[in-house]
Amino acid sequence: MSSNGPKLPKPGFGLTLQRSHSGLSYSGPDSPIFLNQPQWSPDILKCEECNRDFDFFVRRHHCRRCGRCLCERCSKGKAALKRMRFLDLVRQCNICLAQSLDENQKLTQMGRLTSSIRFVDVSEKECQVFIDEYYTVMVIQRDTTPPIQIHLNDIKSAKILTKTHLNKTYPIGFRVVVNDEFDETSFEFLLPEDTATKQDQLWIKSLQIMFALIFEKPNNEQ
Ligand SMILES: [Zn+2]
Ligand SMILES: [Zn+2]
Repeated sequence: MSSNGPKLPKPGFGLTLQRSHSGLSYSGPDSPIFLNQPQWSPDILKCEECNRDFDFFVRRHHCRRCGRCLCERCSKGKAALKRMRFLDLVRQCNICLAQSLDENQKLTQMGRLTSSIRFVDVSEKECQVFIDEYYTVMVIQRDTTPPIQIHLNDIKSAKILTKTHLNKTYPIGFRVVVNDEFDETSFEFLLPEDTATKQDQLWIKSLQIMFALIFEKPNNEQ
């Protein structure tokens, strides 16, 4: 079994590049991990952060993350903004910059979720679990049956299961509750008790990071 884990076939529509006034970005399959790009504030008279008047020398700029109209001083940072799928470094205000840097790091850590990890489910059957590379579905593969796909958008709640031993707490598995139109289904996965490695635990920690991103309320979406 490859350590990179199986990849889903590319969706038919693939990824397309798009250029807007905010910069070059790509559009991908619907995923709760990614945020929509904001509407830009109209060109107003004063910087929305420091209230300086705009004129010939104090020019208007827009933060790509919150869309506010700001002076150069209040929007001088440029950084990757992976959660909005920008390809290049983009201008951001100080508040957004700090948040983006933090999230960029989290998304890098989440890269390991596309490698599959061995779990046992509640019926004590072994399965492989991974997240597809577009962060749209969780795939559960058993040897004998076709894979189950859980859309991340349908996950209603998630919990990391832990165990405490000699005052140390470590992850041993996770549970997700999935909502379809009529029903709720709960899935639970535990690491095989004797063979779990440090890598397996890191995978679950990355999953925890992903769930935190999914369930947080982003400040630009009410
Ligand atoms: Zn300003
Ligand atoms: Zn901003």
